[in-house]
This record gives sequence, structure tokens and C-alpha cells, in this order.
Amino acid sequence: MKDQNRREQKNLTVEETVDDWQIQMQNQVNTLEKLKEYINVTSEEEKAIKSTKAKWGTTPYFASLMDRDNPNDPIRKQIVPSKQEQENEYGIENYLIHKENRADDENRPDTIGRQYRDRIAFTVVNVCGIYCRHCFRKELVVDKSLELRFDVDEGLDWIREHTELREILVTGGDPLLLPDDQIEYIVRKLREIPHIEMIRFGSRLPIVLPHRITKGLQRVMGGYHKIPIWLNTQCNHPKEITEKTAQAVWDLLTCGINVGNQAVLLKGINDDVETFQSLHQKLLNIRIRPYYLFYLEPAPGIDHFRTPVEKGAELIRDAIRGHTSGLAQPMYVVATNIGKIPLMPDYYIQSKDQEKYVLKNYKGETTTLPNILD
Ligand code: SF4
Repeated sequence: MKDQNRREQKNLTVEETVDDWQIQMQNQVNTLEKLKEYINVTSEEEKAIKSTKAKWGTTPYFASLMDRDNPNDPIRKQIVPSKQEQENEYGIENYLIHKENRADDENRPDTIGRQYRDRIAFTVVNVCGIYCRHCFRKELVVDKSLELRFDVDEGLDWIREHTELREILVTGGDPLLLPDDQIEYIVRKLREIPHIEMIRFGSRLPIVLPHRITKGLQRVMGGYHKIPIWLNTQCNHPKEITEKTAQAVWDLLTCGINVGNQAVLLKGINDDVETFQSLHQKLLNIRIRPYYLFYLEPAPGIDHFRTPVEKGAELIRDAIRGHTSGLAQPMYVVATNIGKIPLMPDYYIQSKDQEKYVLKNYKGETTTLPNILD
């Protein structure tokens, strides 16, 4: 009956029936007018929205989790543009080119970013369910200043030729926004490559659009297979977890997809002990294993979310380690062009001065990070 009503409302034929998730995407909250249906927009927010050239917006579902009257609401701050996005002190221009080594000597298709020998990031789309204001990949998905050619077959051919690869991270944008048949194609083609042992998906949809975990998606991604799929999502605040999230995660797990979380440490959103502990406890409660806590990368225009580097280690020490289940503890890292580097206490930090840290990776190579004073 529900489906029939939906078809009538949208004048769809039976063949063109759309799922709830597609209706959510068609009705993205991405104009001032629509945003005002969810919150009382402040004059500052309105000015920032009117002056931004960057993409912004989210699903109606995720928008409905915002507090109507509190501009400091943790979900609202991830959704609504701020004038501070125009400022940039610590961000690196052309950050994604630098981070994914896109300008090095190896000749790779646009879809392939590389930091490691045995695994690569396979970028297949540049649209998202939410355009996070703190996004590290913002040049590709939010600012749209980086244009890639999304030739999936070209990427698959390159992966096939590189027998040193074991693991592929399918990313975007949000790869779960592709239609089921395209996801099925990518998964099937990757599984046919003899040297591929594991597939990972990076997707925020279990959090911002849990409706996407449909029976159809479970069919194309799920089931027993010797090349498993791991899905890492991004949940940054306990308010983002609802009954719908819990059901979506259960549906993923019960069809054979492992689910982890990659939180981002965000000033004013999750950088206090109480929120941080509650986030990681609630994640476990709905069966998501906390995997990473990311220090904010030096992408441009996101300085207002930066914390001191020590903050993440302090939160793990004060909110998780010894205070709650060890399963709730993520690995605190910063992702760099030479790979992820742990930022746990005194770990791999070579030296620091007033301006910067010098960090060491697993091969003994070094890189730098700005020293943000509290
Ligand atoms: S969902 Fe991921 S890629 Fe998309 S805007 Fe958010 S952080 Fe960036």
C-alpha cells in the first residue's frame, strides 16, 4: 500500500518504482528554503549559505536530527556552511593531489589514489548523502575544484595489471549512492581478479541515509564469499545514532558485511570526554566496532574544526582506556600522503616545536603536522 501511494504521488509506473533512499536523495535539503523547514536559520548561517560557492546539503532524514534552535547542535554544524570556511591557515591547496600522491611518477587512472604497496583507494563517484563541512576530500566533493574522470573499467584494468595489490578501498564521494547494478558490477569484477583478497567500502550512508541498506543492496553485496567486504562508516556524535541506524547495521552484518567506524575529531562536536565516551559506547551498542579516530587532515577551509593534536589521545585516555570496554577504543591516527600514522601518546612523534610536529611512518619516513596551540 505504501509503495502504491508513493507511485501515485510521483506518477511512477510499476517498473519505475523508487526506494525510500532514492526519494530521500531527490529531496535533499540543500536550499535555504528547505533548510528553514528543519531549523530556525540564524542570520550568520544565512549569510554563509548565500556567500558559499561550495556544495552543501543532506538527506531529509539526517536534517531531521538537527536541533531547531541551537546553532551549536553537533549535527547542524556538520551540515550548515559557516563563514569560517572562507578562512584558511593550516590547509594545503590541492590537498587531495598531495595526499593521494596523484602527481607522482606512477601513471595511474584518475580513479586510483595510492599511499601503500598492497592497497589503493578506488574513487568511483563524487556525490554524497551529506556534504560534511569538515570533509578531507572536499576539493573533490564539496568545492568541486578537483575533477576526476570516473572511468571504472579503466580503474579495474589498472588494478588487474597490478598483482601486488591485495585490498581495494572503494570510495568517493559515497560509493553506496551508485545504483545496485553498478555496485554489483564493481564487486563482481574485483572478486574476479585473482590477487584481490579483500574489498572495503567507505560510506556515510548507514548514518545519514540508513534507508540505503535495502534488500537489493544486501543481495548484491552480501552472502558468503572468500573475498570479504568490510564497510567503514563515519559517525561523529552519539546523536547521529537512531533505531534506523541500528537496523541498517544489523542488516549489513547479517548479510555478511563487517561494519566499523571512522570518526573524525571535531572541535566543538566530539572533543569532550562525555560525548566521546557516549559515542563509542553507543557505536558498540549497535554493533559497530570503532576503528579509527582521525585527526583533521590539512584540507583547506576546515581550520575551525581543528583541535590540538594531543586532544584525541587525551580523550582516549580520559574517556575510553580503563573507563569502558577496550572494544570501544579506536586507533587515533592522522592520514597522510605517506600513509596513516598513529598519534597515540608519545607514539612515533619524533620532535615538536612551537610551529610543527615531525612524525615518523612505518618505514621510518617523516612528515610534518602544524602544532595548534590551545
Ligand atoms: S560523506 Fe565523506 S566524502 Fe562525503 S562530504 Fe562527508 S566526509 Fe566528505
